[in-house]
Amino acid sequence: MRYLIFVVSMAALAQSGPQPRVVTPGGEGKAPSDAVVLFDGKSSGEWVHKDGRAAEWMVRDGVLVCKSGTGDILTKKTFGSAQIHVEFSTPLMAQAKSQARGNSGVYIQGRYEVQVLDSYENPTYANGSAAAVYGQHAPLVNASRPPEQWQTYDMVFHAAECDGAGKVTTPATLTLLHNGVLVQDHVNITKNTPGSEVKTACDPGPILLQDHFHPEVKDTLLRFRNIWVRPLSGK
Ligand code: MG
Repeated sequence: MRYLIFVVSMAALAQSGPQPRVVTPGGEGKAPSDAVVLFDGKSSGEWVHKDGRAAEWMVRDGVLVCKSGTGDILTKKTFGSAQIHVEFSTPLMAQAKSQARGNSGVYIQGRYEVQVLDSYENPTYANGSAAAVYGQHAPLVNASRPPEQWQTYDMVFHAAECDGAGKVTTPATLTLLHNGVLVQDHVNITKNTPGSEVKTACDPGPILLQDHFHPEVKDTLLRFRNIWVRPLSGK
């Protein structure tokens, strides 16, 4: 009898719900089939500078290279909650220290900076190191690879929820894997990174890549590739 109840209840569970939608997974240099591809190795056409001019960063050998001095670039498209994938490689800048070494950033919604930095044997303040939510959350561990090696950020970002008056009722959250290692575990993001384009946390925003100016260094040739976003339904 007990077995019969088990079989009947399992059958009921097995019949519930629609089939999951099929997505062909990505891989090295390739996005999942349902992703919004923001850089596929060929064109920077999805990106502009803040003043709207076409991105002046260089596309070389399938890689998007920051051209220091041209300014940050941001996507033409805007996003709310999303899965975000970025690959990057910091240059070898042995003479530079701390924040001057391989600094860039991936800004979610144009306002929350996930720090990009060469944090391999390069100490700096914890909440300004690689994979920090800059100024707010240090990473749980330092999973950085040495400069000139490819690294990955995989993010699950949930946008802030707001009431009708534009007041935040639930803050934005971020989970981040750095090179496959959990470094941000569903942290609340409660304020914009200083210097970001200030907009209400309720609005969608672009992905922004930082051209970081530092008086000690002339050029920071940050390299990016395989950038894609999967918008999450609901927000
Ligand atoms: Mg930065």
